[in-house]
Amino acid sequence: MPTVVNAYAAAQAKAPLKPFQIERRAMNPNDVTINILYCGVCHSDVHQARDEWGGGIFPMVPGHEIVGKVNQVGSAVKHYKVGDVVGVGCFVDSCRECSPCQQSLQQYCEKGMNQTYNGREKNGAPTYGGYSTQIVVDENYVLRIPENLPLDAAAPLLCAGITTYSPLRQWKIKTGDKVAVIGLGGLGHMAVKLAAAMGAEVTVFSTSASKKEDAHRLGATNFANSKEEEIFKKYAGYFDLMINTVAADIDLNRYLELLKLDSTLVTVGVPDKPAAVHAFPLIRKRRRLAGSLIGGIKETQEMLDFCGKHNIVSDIELISMDKINEAYDRMVKSDVRYRFVIDIASLK
Ligand code: NAP
Ligand code: ZN
Ligand code: ZN
Repeated sequence: MPTVVNAYAAAQAKAPLKPFQIERRAMNPNDVTINILYCGVCHSDVHQARDEWGGGIFPMVPGHEIVGKVNQVGSAVKHYKVGDVVGVGCFVDSCRECSPCQQSLQQYCEKGMNQTYNGREKNGAPTYGGYSTQIVVDENYVLRIPENLPLDAAAPLLCAGITTYSPLRQWKIKTGDKVAVIGLGGLGHMAVKLAAAMGAEVTVFSTSASKKEDAHRLGATNFANSKEEEIFKKYAGYFDLMINTVAADIDLNRYLELLKLDSTLVTVGVPDKPAAVHAFPLIRKRRRLAGSLIGGIKETQEMLDFCGKHNIVSDIELISMDKINEAYDRMVKSDVRYRFVIDIASLK
């Protein structure tokens, strides 16, 4: 039997989020039902609830940084039992057959991953995210949260954590490598913690001078105020990898000039407008401009285990569900240190 549960939704693009009820599907044999405890608030939630990328499915229940406890397991479930602490990230299914799916790179599924929200199930029904009390998910798309981590602060690992961990691994960051993180928000502060734990020397590029102390506390060696011209001279040709987490249009050309020979600037931030990139900064040192999308199930579990081992979680501000619209406005103003997490108990 499908179950009706409480949620918060945007009725249409740009509408403030309000209480709403959704139906969770009847369990299939491979499904687990999760009672949601916490859900992180990603800048992608704001982009999508305001339909800044277009094509949004409304009413929309955002939320893809989900942590909760297994409440029920289907008859064929092998890996989870009632009471387990689990997570769900940005997708809840994929084709499982294509080459990326076979490599556990479900985020790059050739048929398109089934997003946790603002997406569709295989039968076409809209998916609803973690701003709700319960979710039903196939166990193959569920993650295990290490026992030593606080559950509220672990929630943002499911998107902000994996989105920054994946490029650090893909570009094989190791001790002594010089990594730049552009933008110290939800993704940026996780990038700093993760890169520092991998032994890198981290430099934060930020428009907020007030975040300098935090940058050092989070593990950065250097802080560069991106509003100061001199820093673009100081760090010319310096970095092995740069991760751009900014959701707005910035001049990538001046950042590309900060890369060493054969090094890469990876963009994970998704502004709503295309960037203008000149050929010169790229050809001069055979530099590369790349992108990266979240991470697959296998790598997400690896990231969670890495965070368990190194005691890494997000710096959070816990909010009740009714504060979500205010949180969105503050996030857009870069006024969050460094991730809002919703206490789902406030929705019951
Ligand atoms: P966030 O918490 O709002 O952080 C973004 C940071 O960018 C801000 O804190 C701010 O840092 C900086 N910033 C904001 N406006 C700026 C501007 N006009 N110029 C320069 N810097 C600016 O957002 P988030 O949740 O980390 O997400 C960041 C972006 O990544 C969003 O576009 C989101 O959709 C995208 N995203 C992508 C993936 C993926 O898989 N690729 C996954 C999740 C999210 P300072 O104050 O330090 O300047
Ligand atoms: Zn996200
Ligand atoms: Zn696939």
